[in-house]
Amino acid sequence: MGLIVLGLLAETIFLSRSVVDQLQRLSIATSDNVQWNLAQVEVDFLRFQTAIDQAEREGAPILADLRTRFDILYSRHSIIADSPIYGELRAAPENEERLRSFRAFLDRAIPDMDGPDAGLLAALPQLRQDSLALRPDLRALALDGVKTFAEVEARSRAEVSRTLIKLAFSMLVLIVALLATIAVLYGLFRRGQAVADENQLVRSRFEAMVASSLDAILVVDTHGRIIAFNGAAEGVFGYSSEEAVGEQMSDLIVPEHLRDAHNHGMARYIETGEKRVIDAGRVRLEALHKSGRVFPVELSISAAENEDRTVFVSFLRDISQQVADEEELVRARDEAQAGEKAKSELLSVMSHEMRTPLNGILGSLELIDRENLTGQQVRYLDAIRVSGNLLLSHVNDVLDLSRINAMSVRAEEVEFALDETVRNLVDSHMALTKAHGNEMHVHLNSDTLSWVRGDELRLKQCLLNLIGNANKFTADGVVTVEVERLDDGEVVEFRISDTGIGISEDDIGKIFDDFVMIDTAYSRGSSGTGLGLAITRRLVTAMGGEIEADSIEGEGSLFTMRLPLPVVQRSKSISAQPSRSDLEESQNQPLTLVVDDNDINRMIAADMLTQAGHRVEEADGGKAAILAARKTRYDLILMDISMPEVDGIEALQTIRAENGASAETLIVALTAHAATEDQDRIRRAGFDDLLIKPLSRRAVTTVLPLHLVDNQEEDGKQDAISILGPAKYAEALADFHEEAARFLTRLEKPGGRTSDLQAEAHELWGSASVLGVSSAWRHLQMLERADAEVWDSARKQAIGAFRENLSEVS
Ligand code: ADP
Repeated sequence: MGLIVLGLLAETIFLSRSVVDQLQRLSIATSDNVQWNLAQVEVDFLRFQTAIDQAEREGAPILADLRTRFDILYSRHSIIADSPIYGELRAAPENEERLRSFRAFLDRAIPDMDGPDAGLLAALPQLRQDSLALRPDLRALALDGVKTFAEVEARSRAEVSRTLIKLAFSMLVLIVALLATIAVLYGLFRRGQAVADENQLVRSRFEAMVASSLDAILVVDTHGRIIAFNGAAEGVFGYSSEEAVGEQMSDLIVPEHLRDAHNHGMARYIETGEKRVIDAGRVRLEALHKSGRVFPVELSISAAENEDRTVFVSFLRDISQQVADEEELVRARDEAQAGEKAKSELLSVMSHEMRTPLNGILGSLELIDRENLTGQQVRYLDAIRVSGNLLLSHVNDVLDLSRINAMSVRAEEVEFALDETVRNLVDSHMALTKAHGNEMHVHLNSDTLSWVRGDELRLKQCLLNLIGNANKFTADGVVTVEVERLDDGEVVEFRISDTGIGISEDDIGKIFDDFVMIDTAYSRGSSGTGLGLAITRRLVTAMGGEIEADSIEGEGSLFTMRLPLPVVQRSKSISAQPSRSDLEESQNQPLTLVVDDNDINRMIAADMLTQAGHRVEEADGGKAAILAARKTRYDLILMDISMPEVDGIEALQTIRAENGASAETLIVALTAHAATEDQDRIRRAGFDDLLIKPLSRRAVTTVLPLHLVDNQEEDGKQDAISILGPAKYAEALADFHEEAARFLTRLEKPGGRTSDLQAEAHELWGSASVLGVSSAWRHLQMLERADAEVWDSARKQAIGAFRENLSEVS
């Protein structure tokens, strides 16, 4: 718009100038002077002629007048011949010719005019004659002049009028453009005013917000000077706004120990733009009150930037009360935790103390010769056994819960055959299943369930709870256990479903809570603590899995548990353990030492082992065990852990270290410490295995013989030969001996890293177990499991055993 107006303005000026020029030309054309000049040529010529006539009559006295007339005539000619005004007149060729004749006449007369009077007098007749000849030309020139100037005038007028019309039009457009410009400017002005009003509104709103904010708000410029300090800030820091504004913020409200850091932070931001506290959300820091008191604040700072200015806006809150409350809460929590810890310690001690007598009761029951009892007595005995087992499971539940609550549960991973674990668990529930008139089905839906890595012990505990519940709450129905590896490969899903009483929609949300037993007619008859699912959920979470329940009341329930159990590569057929029938066929009666300070427990264990075909000797404590092991070479030592004076762990380590007759004997721990942490501690101490009290007939007849067979090298060897064939076996054995020799060299070299040696021992252990070289196998296993305390003795023993074995081979 501005450009258009400027263009129009330029055009108008240009037109105005043209008009001026044209008017000038017109005025010249119409000027009297110009016309008069032409007419005057004729008049002056006549006067000149008259002067000639007079001079001829009167002689020399009036020659001066004649000369003056000539000069006037001469100048008239010069004006018409030279002045640009007469350009148009001169442009016509006939006029040019006339002017030339005029000039020639004048030029001819000049010598006479300038000469002496006598000469001039003599020339007068010729002059008159010449002037008469020239006169018609001059007349014609004058007339032509009048005509020419009339034409010029008419043309100039037309031109002026055209230019004036153009000028008027241009002015009109200019006026319209100016009006439009004014309208636009007015619009802009109105808009600017609206924006200004809006800004004013926003500003007043912002000011109201800042003023009424409950948080202290400080605005600081890049030099650290406070430029705004609201009412809340006055309350928080004790300064009035007048006192604060203009002051350095760091001097006023930043405690001395933070001042340098604050100033560095500001400088760094201004230099590099790097933000640490700015725009970092809520930050907790300390601030300084006018009174000198340092107090905790929560603040957030943001930088408001535009092209030429940056300011920092800080929102601060005094959190002294909040911090005090938090500290109070932490103290209360610590106290509560201490109370909780004391409670769980009490529970754990109580449970341990209850287990020992229970162990005695249940063990004695197993030993009673039922054949000589009446039916009534057998029923009473069964009642005692059922109640005793129930009591034991309650004690275990409470102990588990208190332990899980007291310490965070960590999953303990081992490699195990998941399919076998599930089948064994289901087998162990068959009696309960039958007792309820149920059928139980197992579906192992994936073929990648043989060897997995995970926490077998805790998984078993969860499955026991779920399968136990399914049977407990189902009568004459079907319990199904499905195991399937999910698509992602890591996770195995366990689905335990039943066709039992189900759980109502209202109750299903509660069943994983502590001590919840749904009050149904059925469950009132059943036994439980309401802790099974609570423990299961905690264990599942600790293993990184999840569990959920679905149920339709009256139709049945489905418990789905998903756990990460990655596959491990292992040849199951080769590492499978010898079957029970192998053991039963074994004619050797193992010599076993039972070590326990509790007479009843020792007696029960001894009787169970005797009934299972062991030759048994007894030791009533760690000391006695060490003495016996020094002299006699036992096949098995069953060692109680908690014993006065010398406990089980110490006795084990002494027996292993002493190099006595039983230094390499299989030693199995027997403990009432059911928690996983305790079990791990015991295993790490170097025991070959661990059995939980009360010792059961099943453990004696299945678990112990598995270990004892390990000793019978020949059996393992035969297994391997039958699998590999004699030629391959011989080859593999030779390779193994080479490997073992290399391992021995590394083991003997001082300074080898324990973890490396243990990894190698693990690998070699695999070969030894496959080939049935069980003496090496045991030492390798010992090395692999040994912790820092027992590493040296395990290493020494292993070196001795390997040297002996390898020298025999060579
Ligand atoms: P309990 O020791 O009583 O079995 P749990 O925590 O294992 O405690 O179970 C809590 C409650 O959930 C049980 O008392 C029972 O009412 C209900 N429940 C658990 N499993 C089932 C199931 N399979 N069918 C029906 N009800 C069940």
